[in-house]
Amino acid sequence: MTAKASSDGLMEEIVGLCKRRGFIFPSSEIYGGYNGFYDYGPLGVELRNNIKQAWWRDMVQRRDNIEGLDSTIIMHPDIWKASGHVDGFSDPMVDCRESKLRYRADQLFFAPVIVAGETIGYVSVVECPEQQEIAEKAAADIKRKAAKQGTLEPIVLKDYTESKPEEYDLVPSPATGKPGSLTAPREFKLMFETKVGPLADESAVAYLRPETAQGIFANYKNIVDTGRVKIPFGIAQIGKAFRNEITPRNFIFRSREFEQMEIEYFISPSADWKTLHREWIDTCIDWLVSIGLPRASITEDIHPEDKLAFYSRATTDLMFQFPHGEQELWGIACRGDYDLKQHQEHSGKSMTIFDEASKEKFVPHVIEPSLGVDRTILAVLTAAYTIDEVPNDKGKVEPRTLLKFSPKIAPVKAAIFPLLKNKPELVERAQALYKKLQRRWNVFYDASGAIGRRYRRQDEIGTPFGITIDFDTIEKDGTVTLRDRDTCEQRRVTEDELIQFLEEQIDG
Ligand code: ATP
Repeated sequence: MTAKASSDGLMEEIVGLCKRRGFIFPSSEIYGGYNGFYDYGPLGVELRNNIKQAWWRDMVQRRDNIEGLDSTIIMHPDIWKASGHVDGFSDPMVDCRESKLRYRADQLFFAPVIVAGETIGYVSVVECPEQQEIAEKAAADIKRKAAKQGTLEPIVLKDYTESKPEEYDLVPSPATGKPGSLTAPREFKLMFETKVGPLADESAVAYLRPETAQGIFANYKNIVDTGRVKIPFGIAQIGKAFRNEITPRNFIFRSREFEQMEIEYFISPSADWKTLHREWIDTCIDWLVSIGLPRASITEDIHPEDKLAFYSRATTDLMFQFPHGEQELWGIACRGDYDLKQHQEHSGKSMTIFDEASKEKFVPHVIEPSLGVDRTILAVLTAAYTIDEVPNDKGKVEPRTLLKFSPKIAPVKAAIFPLLKNKPELVERAQALYKKLQRRWNVFYDASGAIGRRYRRQDEIGTPFGITIDFDTIEKDGTVTLRDRDTCEQRRVTEDELIQFLEEQIDG
């Protein structure tokens, strides 16, 4: 039997496992934590690096027309004026004056409670998969308390950005349950400001980048001038981004410091962008599946035309079934030539490229696949987290927690166990194999405790393969036992077979 915890409990269990086994810790925990910031521990940093390396290898190194870049986090402030971030990068927020809690207005839902045609109150709820149910229950309570006879009209939730001024005082705060303390929605700047240089005045204001993409646009000309590229081509970058999110939540799903893996794919203005967009969407889905996400857990959210930014031609988000609901994992946007034209205008530098094929000169259009590293980690953890039942050393069936990571991204690729730790010949042979494998992969050596318990410890951190050195190894044919984490099946393999198998599974 294989089961997932209920979605409510699943996030808590993942957070608990991440802390306990050294994947992810709340930042600054000894000082009580710091909301919206997380640190990656010994296993977390391996998982993170493996995901980034897999992306880099598949998107940059194994493709002929994508170049890599690593630009600075702090860039000339004019870049953010040109890109529109200084004026426009904000979210609507609403404060509860009583509890001092702050909500993103587009994540706070409310509805009037109407009985027999008369509005007798309002309900509010913070966005969650069960929001409709919660709101309906609250509405029924209001009706009961008001002892109002008649039919309760259906509860139609709207987000708080759609509230009217006369409703601000009527909508209850989700924190207190009482109306009167919510402010009107206000725009809240998401970019972190800092000061660069010795002066502390306005001229010194700079920003921590809220996306890596603008570093790509700012370097587009440098890369074109290297002569290495011709249309269509892409520039890829992995790096930190910072957003002063109003309500960081859901663990690493929405944090204030996170990392992005972005590509700007430059195409001719006359290219068949719809087909290219579709190809990128498929490439992105295939990549997510290649690192272990079930295809069925990924859906496409096509942004309706009337909700697109004025410069955007189309955007499709790849959505994943996270423990807190189906949410955006990867955005794939067709941004036209807006960004390059803005930088051309603000910098005075030409952003045109000469296309040998068509003998035309133009400012290219872009397709932008933009993925969060941290959201990918949460998706991978969600997909991998499994509880099943297997027999222990004594044959008694017990529940077991395991992370079914793909060997490609698993933090520890294999664990090497001497059957007994007090038999020098077993230990020596196991150590020799450990040292050999360690030269290529992150492997782990464990000699302590019953073999079953050693397997369990590795299952819980998602190590796909267990290799045991026993008496047959040293006395008979040199073969070792290779155990599969998911099926618990064991088979004997020679060292050459083992290495070939690991190569295929891990590096494949
Ligand atoms: P959302 O609507 O969830 O705030 P967004 O549309 O603002 O996301 P983009 O600006 O398109 O996100 O950023 C590209 C990707 O970067 C997202 O798909 C996501 O994977 C990641 N990302 C964005 N904001 C955050 C954040 N605060 N924490 C973690 N990852 C993020």
